[in-house]
This record gives sequence, C-alpha cells and structure tokens, in this order.
Amino acid sequence: MTETYDVVVAGAGHNSLITAAYAARAGFRVLVLEANEQIGGDATSEPLTLPGFLHDSCASAHNLIQTNPMLRNNELQLDRHGLEYIRPDPVVVMPFLDGETLTMSLDLERTAAELARFSAHDAKAYRGLLADWELMAPVVGEERANPPRLPSEVAARTEASPMGPAMERIRRCSALDVINERFEEPHVRAFFAWMAFMTVEAIDQPGSGLLAFSLVAGRQRSGWTTPRGGSIRLPLALAAVIEEAGGRVMTSKPVRRILLEGGRAVGVETADGSRFEGRRAVVSTIHVKHLLGMVGEQHLPAPFIDSINRWKPSIGMFATHYALSEAPRFGAGGGRESVAVAALESVDELCALLADERSGRIHLDEPVLLVITSSLVDASRAPAGHHTFKVVTFVPYDLQGGSQRWDDLKAEVSATLFEKLCRLSPNLSRRIVLAEHVESPLDMERRNPANWHGSCHGGAATPDQTGYFRPAAGWSSYRTPIEGLYQTGACTHPGGSISGLPGRNCASVLLGDLGSSLNEVIGIKSLAAKP
Ligand SMILES: Cc1cc2nc3c(=O)[nH]c(=O)nc-3n(C[C@H](O)[C@H](O)[C@H](O)COP(=O)(O)OP(=O)(O)OC[C@H]3O[C@@H](n4cnc5c(N)ncnc54)[C@H](O)[C@@H]3O)c2cc1C
Repeated sequence: MTETYDVVVAGAGHNSLITAAYAARAGFRVLVLEANEQIGGDATSEPLTLPGFLHDSCASAHNLIQTNPMLRNNELQLDRHGLEYIRPDPVVVMPFLDGETLTMSLDLERTAAELARFSAHDAKAYRGLLADWELMAPVVGEERANPPRLPSEVAARTEASPMGPAMERIRRCSALDVINERFEEPHVRAFFAWMAFMTVEAIDQPGSGLLAFSLVAGRQRSGWTTPRGGSIRLPLALAAVIEEAGGRVMTSKPVRRILLEGGRAVGVETADGSRFEGRRAVVSTIHVKHLLGMVGEQHLPAPFIDSINRWKPSIGMFATHYALSEAPRFGAGGGRESVAVAALESVDELCALLADERSGRIHLDEPVLLVITSSLVDASRAPAGHHTFKVVTFVPYDLQGGSQRWDDLKAEVSATLFEKLCRLSPNLSRRIVLAEHVESPLDMERRNPANWHGSCHGGAATPDQTGYFRPAAGWSSYRTPIEGLYQTGACTHPGGSISGLPGRNCASVLLGDLGSSLNEVIGIKSLAAKP
C-alpha cells in the first residue's frame, strides 16, 4: 500500500528536519522517514555508557546555528518545544605540559587579559582579529544563509565589502598563515590553531583562512553552547513543530530507493518494501555517495555523477565517551573545571597530525584533543555528582592496511589518548572511570551512513567542494538533476556542523518552487503569535 503526502523527506538529521518543519508550517502534508531508531543523526544524545548518563554521541557545540535566522529570529519558536541553550563559561581551558594554562572566557576583557599574560602584542592582535571579523562576518553570513553563488560573484562581493581585496586575500590564505602572521607567542599560536581546526578542516591548506576568524569569534560570543538536555533536544523540538503542523516523523524506516515516474521523483521505498508518495517533492539528506544508487545512475547526467565520484571525505573523528564518578579538572596545581578543554602542544604538532592523516597514520605522539564535560552545566546529563566526559581526536578513516583495522586498534588508541590526557589533569585517572564507550570513524559511519568514510561534515570543505561546487557545479541550489528531488544536509552549501543553514536554505528553494515562501511561513507564524 502506498501512503500519500505532499513532501516526503528521507532522513531525519537536524537539517532535513528544518526543511520539513518549514514545509509543514507552510501547510504541506509532510512525512519524514529516518533509518535509525532515533531521529537527529549526528545531533543526538544517548545513554552510551550507563543508565542515567546522557552522552552527546557526536556533536555537542551548537555554535553555528546561533546566527541562523531560524534561531536568531525564533522563526519556528523552538523554545516552545523545550529548546534552551546554555553558554558555558569559561569557554575553553587549554593546559600545556609545561604547566601553562590558557583560559578563554565569555568576557572579552578577561580573554584579552589572559592572552596578555603570554604576550601583550597577541592580546592586541586578538582585538584586531575580532574587529576584522566584524567587517567580514556580514559578507560571510549572507553567503552562508543563501543558496550559493558563482565564484566570480562571491569574489566581486568580497572585493566590494568593507575590507575589500584584503578580505579576498584572507579567503585565499590558509588559517595557519593568518595565525602565524598575527600572533607571535607559541602557546597563543597553538590556541588559535586548535580553535581554527574545530570544524576538522586542513587549516594548513589555502582557502581555509576565514576559519582563523570565524570559529574563535563564534566561541567568544556564545561559548561551547549546548542545549539543556543534550544535542537531541534540537531535533526533538523540530519534530514537535512538524507534528504540531500535521506532519509525521517515522523512525526505523531506511529509505532504499527514490521512486521516479517519467523522470520525476514521486516518492520513496523503504527497506521493508513500504512506499510513500511525495506528490509535490521528495527531499533527501542521504549522503550523495549513496544517493546515486538509490536514484539509479542511468537517470543522472554524467557531470553530476563525475562530481559525486570525485567527492572527498573530510578528516575522520575518533571519540571515547566516559561515565565519571567526579568532575575532571585541568591545568597545573588543583586545575579547574571547564565544559570544553583543548589539548595541542604546538602548531607543529597540528601540522604533524595533518601529515599523518594524509598518510593513513594515527597521530598519537602528542595528541590533538577536544574534551567535553557537558554535565558541568547541565545536571540532566548524569546522576548527581557524576559526569559525562567525551574525548575526541582527529584521525584517518583509511588506515594504512585498510579501514577495517579500526576494529582491532580502537581500544588501544583510546587507552593511549586517555593516558596522555591524564598528564594534563590533577584528578583524571582510571580511578574515576565507571564505564566507557569507544567509536572509531568506522563506527561513526556504521551509526549514521551520512558519516561516509568517517566524514562527519558530509565531505571535505576544500575550495572545489564548497559553495557553488557543493555537491556538484550547477546542482548546488538544493535542486538535483531529477525534477522534484531536493537535497539538503552536510553535503550541500554551506556544509557540515550544526548550523541548520543547509536545511533552511533548502526550505527557501523548495517552498519557492511549490508556490510558497519562507517569508510567508514566517509571516503566518508572526500573525499567529499576535494576541
Ligand atoms: C563525533 C562528532 C562530533 C561532532 N561535533 C560537532 C560539534 O560539536 N559541533 C558541530 O557543529 N558539529 C559537530 N559535528 C558535525 C555535525 O554533527 C554534523 O555535521 C551535522 O550533525 C550533520 O547534520 P545533517 O543534518 O546534515 O545530517 P546528519 O546528522 O548526518 O543526519 C542524516 C540523517 O539521515 C539518516 N539517513 C541516512 N541515510 C538514510 C536512509 N537511506 N534512509 C533514512 N534515513 C537515512 C541518518 O540516519 C541521519 O539520521 C560532529 C560530528 C561527529 C560525528
């Protein structure tokens, strides 16, 4: 039997849920089909270790979404459905083996004073970097919140912007170029390099220059911001909006085929043989590498297929989740508690990690780590006095000898990282570990097929895979070569992370094609909100 809807959405990551929520609010009958037992994709939270410990299995920081008009203007009123953000302070603590600790605070004056302990020049340079970002952010923000433009148009708008050609130069630089040009003290350089690396892009490559600005400015503004109740609260709130508007969200429904009729997408078939008709549109957040087979290559133009065949993953992630019996502290002396902790000894160490990653080697000498203890600011994550603790590093998916080796290596890699991390803490040790759960990049692909080749941001954000070229030149407007089939998610502009922008941009294009608009949806909402 075939059920009929206006719009069928394949996959329930936060982006596709956003597209679905706007479509449902526009009055279309919407169905979302998710392969897993739980919605959210990489924006999820699960009791991975022990009952009562709610871990963010993948993403914890919801920074990029804070400037998305959906949240900034409360377009979908997600707060009515339990979404509330916490802004942890300190933002991040970075301990070093030599006993130094660099702490970033939400208060800019405190951060500047902290940097001045290391170098007065660098404290001043930090204010200069933020001031430059103030000039560049509107240009970048406007680009990200709209369907991509031709590279020539992006360049023209950049040159016409307040910083002019100087901004174009920054875009062409590597983030490490920017950091080395602007900062001089080694701890400070390591700090800014670590921060610029937090979207897991190769920051030694030309084209990554803006990352030296955007990440640190976002953290300075909103800390390691995270939803009360875990990352899952974002998709849950979106699902509530969809259902409130008469839509439906079904789990354990892997889509295996996009159904076509006369060259047009008309619905989907799930693994259990059920068929769901999308009379007006089908929206996919299925990874583009998997989409080809689900559509059938014979229906797709060669240039599109070529682009997808060339598609490159980004650097893989490796995470261990712990249940702890006490809060870990970091830094010399008694140390201090912080939701986010950074470990990177030097810029050279990050360059060594990038070189190892390119050769299929795991960098463990002096590891580069992101450590998260969300339970410090959110009591709902763990039993009283106990803590969730996540240790993340950055690794190749394709190991020398093959990616299957991860299953044999992961326990040893995790143990090594933990031992090295203990050197930076006065109280972190096996004594306070109650349970643990390890995920290699191979496991991350198993948990979510959208993490193709361990790529947690859809694919690398290299110049050939961003903007107009994401996922393929000519098809980066969220429309695909198949009429009626739309694509959103991390494989589309502006890429991975919890930004919600691929989802909102896709909604804008979809609603326009269906004779509605985002403005209409937002207008309907504000009329309804009037007393
Ligand atoms: C360990 C880790 C840590 C991270 N940390 C952060 C962070 O702190 N901050 C940040 O901003 N980003 C972080 N990220 C990246 C971020 O989580 C992702 O880029 C983002 O969640 C992608 O969202 P999405 O909506 O595009 O798709 P996804 O979240 O990947 O969702 C895709 C959904 O589609 C479903 N699906 C796939 N195929 C099918 C199918 N055939 N049928 C039905 N359903 C299907 C999947 O099951 C999934 O639910 C992290 C990622 C990982 C893995």
